[in-house]
Amino acid sequence: MSSSARRDEIAKNLAAVESQIRLAVENSNRERSEVTLIAVTKNFPASDLVHLYDLGIRNFGENRDQEAKSKFEEFNNYIEDKEQEVKWHFQGQLQRNKLRSIATWANFIHSLDQDRYLPSLQQLSIDLEKPISLLLQLSLDLPIRPDRGGVAPEELIELGEKVKDYPGLKLQGLMAVAPLDVAPDLAFGALKTISATFLRAFPDANWISAGMSGDFAAAIAAGATHIRVGSSILGSRT
Ligand SMILES: *Cc1c(COP(=O)(O)O)cnc(C)c1O
Repeated sequence: MSSSARRDEIAKNLAAVESQIRLAVENSNRERSEVTLIAVTKNFPASDLVHLYDLGIRNFGENRDQEAKSKFEEFNNYIEDKEQEVKWHFQGQLQRNKLRSIATWANFIHSLDQDRYLPSLQQLSIDLEKPISLLLQLSLDLPIRPDRGGVAPEELIELGEKVKDYPGLKLQGLMAVAPLDVAPDLAFGALKTISATFLRAFPDANWISAGMSGDFAAAIAAGATHIRVGSSILGSRT
């Protein structure tokens, strides 16, 4: 496919997603500005990120460190983002030996679900001379499924308090993925209740990262501030 045909395809998909976001926002009596669209670009080339940038997207989500880091470098060769408007989001499962690399390119880590990473992340914030922004990944699976990541609702506040013990770490909010076997509005209804309690404990940690291609309207209804949308914009991943 030529570059301009690919750009047109992405533009068309993005416009359809945008109108679905506007509808969901209206139906929930919310404002469009309360919801940030993160384009999930895993498995797609840096050239697609350049198209997305041209179309106004400033937030990219990635799951794998190595893939993301090389794309980050390639993208930055194309686009000199003087205002530093582009933000990179890591949303894959964390691994200890990848933390340093992730912290070099990611502005936000959405998938913290274990306190054992915190001392290393604190050290990285010192080495890299920047705060590290973390979202706690909440599991909505019952029972918890370790292969999908996330902490149990009853462990959430305790993990948040541990993050707060480290001056180099910034507690940004919550992230959740809907279970495979539950209707998204039910799952995100639980998220809404849990996030209200979380916000009372940590009023500054007010991001709610929830909703993907199949369920972002339900997530917006439940209060999501950041939706992570891949295939609806870029096509199915092979
Ligand atoms: C891949 C992925 C997404 C995007 O999924 P789509 O269904 O392609 O929109 C969002 N969040 C996480 C955690 C993912 O792994």
